[in-house]
Amino acid sequence: MFIRLFKMALGATLCFSFSTSLAQKAPHTGDPKLTEYWDPAVRIITPGKTNADAPSDAIVLFDGKDASKWESEKDGGPVKWKIEDGALVVAGGTGGIKTKQGFGDCQLHIEWRTPAVVKGESQGRGNSGIFLMSRYELQVLDNYNNRTYSNGQAGSIYKQTPPLVNASRGPGEWQTYDILFSAPVFQEDGTVRTPAKITVFHNGVIVQHNTTIWGSTQYIGTPNYEKHSSKEPIMLQDHGNPVAYRNIWIRPM
Ligand code: MG
Repeated sequence: MFIRLFKMALGATLCFSFSTSLAQKAPHTGDPKLTEYWDPAVRIITPGKTNADAPSDAIVLFDGKDASKWESEKDGGPVKWKIEDGALVVAGGTGGIKTKQGFGDCQLHIEWRTPAVVKGESQGRGNSGIFLMSRYELQVLDNYNNRTYSNGQAGSIYKQTPPLVNASRGPGEWQTYDILFSAPVFQEDGTVRTPAKITVFHNGVIVQHNTTIWGSTQYIGTPNYEKHSSKEPIMLQDHGNPVAYRNIWIRPM
C-alpha cells in the first residue's frame, strides 16, 4: 500500500517536473533522495549465458533427458513420447502430455522442431501446439513454404489471432518460443474479470504483442471462457506428427 502510494506520488512528481521543464529549465534544487526508494531491493538472479539458457530461478521442465515433470494427458501415467537425442518427440496416437505442476502467470521458453522430412500440407505438416493452462493454444506448425489459414499458422493463438509475421525456420531446424502469459481472472459467478493476455517471440521476433485471448481454443465455433483455477498444467499437443521439443523452462510470476 505504502509503495503504491509512493509510486503514485512519484508519478505525479515526474509528470509535474516534465511539464514544468518544457517551460523552464528546472533548477537542481530540492532533495533528489525524496524520489528514490530502496526497499524492497530487486532480487538478484543469474541469467543464462545465452537467452535460450535457463536463468538461475527457472523451473526446468525438460532438460533433454528427464521427462518426469510431465505426465500423459490421457491417463495421468508416465509420458509415452520418445526421448531421442535430447528431445521429447511426439509419439502419434499416444495423446498429449501435460506438466504435473500447474502454472498461471509465467515466462515460458520452449524450443521445437518439425520433421526434416516434409509430409502433408497446411495443418497436416508438423502440427503440435502449446496449450497454456491446458486450454489456450499457441500453434506449433511447419509454416515454411506451407500456406494455411492465417489464424492457424505457427505463432497464432489458434483460431483467434494470427502472428504479426511468419518468422518460421525450415523443417528440421530448431525454433524458439519465448512466451509471456497472464492468466485470466474470473469473478465468483464464473464470468471473466480479466481475459488472458499473451506476448510471444518466435525465433526472437515478436509475433504476439499483449494479445487478448478470447477463451479456450475451439476447433469448431467461437472461443469461450469457462472458470478454472489460477494454476493449470501446460499441455503439449499430439496432432499425429513427430514434432520434437527441448530446453523447456518456466518462470512463474
Ligand atoms: Mg496444433
